[in-house]
Amino acid sequence: MSIESRRATSPTARVFQERPHTVGFVSLGCAKALVDSERILTQLRAEGYEVTSTYAESDIVVVNTCGFINDAVEESLDAIADAVEQHDKVIVTGCLGARAEHIRDCFPDLLAVTGPHATQAVLDAVHEELPPRHDPFLSLLPPGGIKLTPRHYAYLKISEGCNHGCRFCIIPQLRGPLVSRPIDEVMDEAENLVRAGVRELLVVSQDTSAYGADIKYRPRFHRGSPLKTNLYDLAHGLGSLGVWVRLHYVYPYPHVDRIIPLMRDGYVLPYLDIPFQHASPKILKLMRRPANTQGNLDRISAWRDVCPDITIRSTFIAGFPGETEADFAELLQFLEEAELDRVGCFAYSPVSGATANELPDAVPDAVRDERRDRLLAVQADISERKLQRKIGNTVKVIIDEVDRGQGIGRSEGDAPDVDGRVFVENAQGAVPGDILEVVVVTADQYDLHAVAQPVKH
Ligand code: SF4
Repeated sequence: MSIESRRATSPTARVFQERPHTVGFVSLGCAKALVDSERILTQLRAEGYEVTSTYAESDIVVVNTCGFINDAVEESLDAIADAVEQHDKVIVTGCLGARAEHIRDCFPDLLAVTGPHATQAVLDAVHEELPPRHDPFLSLLPPGGIKLTPRHYAYLKISEGCNHGCRFCIIPQLRGPLVSRPIDEVMDEAENLVRAGVRELLVVSQDTSAYGADIKYRPRFHRGSPLKTNLYDLAHGLGSLGVWVRLHYVYPYPHVDRIIPLMRDGYVLPYLDIPFQHASPKILKLMRRPANTQGNLDRISAWRDVCPDITIRSTFIAGFPGETEADFAELLQFLEEAELDRVGCFAYSPVSGATANELPDAVPDAVRDERRDRLLAVQADISERKLQRKIGNTVKVIIDEVDRGQGIGRSEGDAPDVDGRVFVENAQGAVPGDILEVVVVTADQYDLHAVAQPVKH
């Protein structure tokens, strides 16, 4: 019997002769969509599929779309059009996939269209076209699964959907009401990520403060200890894993006050990402959001009393329908008083299907843009002022990359992609994920420049 024919009759050899199926993956959208992509890819890899970055090498293509604002819809439709032009087996998933009829009208030849967080539906569609080939070697996965972020940080999604009804947003229509993951499941995933080398966990959801409300904060057991499915127990539990923990999309509900001492005591990073969106009570009411601006200022001040180093990040919308110059001035006044550390601002952009589109008194496009620019200019001065105060301080920095001895990283007050960076001289020998102590030398509007402290032996 020749080697070739022996191979053909051996079940093990047959496995090696079959090329694994390859999946091309296009991932668009926010951190929550990224987590969905990671889940799908992790499962596909576990089943023996290979992931590739070119259409030519793909047996099938999955496009994970975003449908949050019109620009994102356009980008998603372009990505689908590109995939369909280059490949005949395309599956669409994600937020835009919730509008399946519209997508099917535009692209009738798609293999399948699923909505967001539909991992199993995407897997089913892939299986139907390309049944999995069992390969025990390919099934060996790193315990943290497949991640699309650099190895040293990872997004941890704790819930799906949202129970609010902000008029500019269609997330509740796309992703449904709040569904929290049981706390033991989240803790297991976090522990796996840490075992896989993750040094920073970024907690994401649509509304992190509401975590557990839908399941009445159900108690679960994790490693023999009871934990309630709520934000406090989650922050405390994650904070015990010995890595940085950063909380995103936290609304200022009263129980958030209990989290601030955990920041002071080093369990979670002293960082809160709170999307205030506006400060004029009139505009907040039109947006259908809580309108307690003075209460928010008082809370921020009380949080700083407990944890003076806290960094507060927020986002705002300029030019919402009905916003007058006086309303906008209230927003600028809030910024001056609150002295937030990091601020993003969008000119209002109508989203198809949002009830804000029915409101009268639309602000002209040019005025929206001009107000956004004005807000960002005000904030740039505040940010620079605050960063200047850090000169001479020793701060901790997590290194994201090293280039010829210069480290580029982030302080405890900087989330990846959205906040500032710290450029660290004298970082020879550091690798991504290292946490260094550095002394701040200079600061500009958004970034810090620092020198690494010698490592103490
Ligand atoms: S809180 Fe408001 S903006 Fe955020 S996802 Fe829910 S409805 Fe949308």
